[in-house]
Amino acid sequence: MPEILEIEMYRRDANQIVGRSVSGVVAHDPDYLREIDASSLGQVLTGSTVTATRRVGKVMVVETSAASLGLRFGMTGRLVIDNVATIDQLEYSSKELKPEWNRFSLDFEGGGTLTMNDPRRLGNVTVDPDLSSLGVDAWKLTGDVLADLVQGRTLALKSFLLDQKRVAGIGNLLADEILWRCALSPGRQAQSLTASECHELAHTTVRVLDELLARGGSNTGDLFSERNQAGRCPLDGEALTKDRFGGRTTWWCSAHQR
Ligand SMILES: [Zn+2]
Repeated sequence: MPEILEIEMYRRDANQIVGRSVSGVVAHDPDYLREIDASSLGQVLTGSTVTATRRVGKVMVVETSAASLGLRFGMTGRLVIDNVATIDQLEYSSKELKPEWNRFSLDFEGGGTLTMNDPRRLGNVTVDPDLSSLGVDAWKLTGDVLADLVQGRTLALKSFLLDQKRVAGIGNLLADEILWRCALSPGRQAQSLTASECHELAHTTVRVLDELLARGGSNTGDLFSERNQAGRCPLDGEALTKDRFGGRTTWWCSAHQR
């Protein structure tokens, strides 16, 4: 599924539409639009200019001179600009770009389009998205912020990292990679972290994001190829443990993660 890294790739790719004028809105799948219908949105956006792109957690925002558009990509959503997908294939999803999976498009003056293609259609589009429920963007996490956030939080560290209301953007693969690199057990109570562990976790989160973005995505972590029954810890060679936290499959090394 697209995690913060994939959404950041989408956002950077979408910078090529900055400066273009919107000539129309196509709601291939009307249900993909939230709280507005296609014709109203068309009236708002047609003739406006794309001024910027930004991202908070896994939400990409396209700013136009008329309104902001919030794009959420769900489990399988891909961004396609001028008929070229930003990412060839998402992990656990199809490599194909079937036209019937197109959910929403912006058309631009002089040709060109931005399209969201989403086989499982769990993403959506909102106007002037309310991002107030999202926590601090994972890429901006600091030790001091994290130390505040974990206070009084008794839930497991893995579940805490996946809670978008606390830290926005971290998905399942990244959470396991980050905790493995920090030598922290996914089952530890969030509030049990010391100040220095908070600094290490925040620092590692940002470093993992920078590193895996350069490598090409969430599935390029050191732990990724070991996420299976025969998986071994790349650090010490011990058999990995499979667990479940926050409803998500978790792989970790009980030999060095404490
Ligand atoms: Zn290990």
